Amino acid sequence: DGPFDIGLADEAATRRLGEDLALALKPGDLVCLEGDLGAGKTTLARAFLRAMADDPDLEVPSPTFTLVQTYDLRVPVHHLDLYRLGAADEIDELGVEEMIASGIVLVEWPERAAGRLPPAALTIRLDQDGDGRRARISGAAPALKRLDRSLAI
Ligand code: ADP
Ligand code: MG
Repeated sequence: DGPFDIGLADEAATRRLGEDLALALKPGDLVCLEGDLGAGKTTLARAFLRAMADDPDLEVPSPTFTLVQTYDLRVPVHHLDLYRLGAADEIDELGVEEMIASGIVLVEWPERAAGRLPPAALTIRLDQDGDGRRARISGAAPALKRLDRSLAI
């Protein structure tokens, strides 16, 4: 069970957490990725997507300018970056509810939507910690339980 407080000593550790998430998430899950610029949100999302695609070379551009990138994998995955969201109500036009209905949604900079996102299954907060990073993961009990199991594998 959680919440979890996980030390990520280097980039490889961030990638491993992304791979563990690929075992834990399922359609209907919204995951918020919080943290400053350079905290590792896109690194985590990229590793998650490559594991979901079973393709280590999958191109995963940062969706900073497009706001959303959709990947048609065994489960549809929607990767959002709301850094450049204008007004918070622009989030309503993106159709996040529809994305969640059939897929997994990862959101960088969820703070920009100012509370207009559906409830998150997990919230992963990444922070600088020396040369590495620290991940603090909270969320709904069922998702935390699934993550707990995948972290143990
Ligand atoms: P964000 O999307 O949060 O702005 P990025 O993933 O684009 O951040 O960039 C994170 C940077 O930090 C990358 O240069 C990556 O190599 C590095 N990084 C990621 N995780 C770690 C870690 N655990 N320790 C040290 N550096 C990391
Ligand atoms: Mg990013």
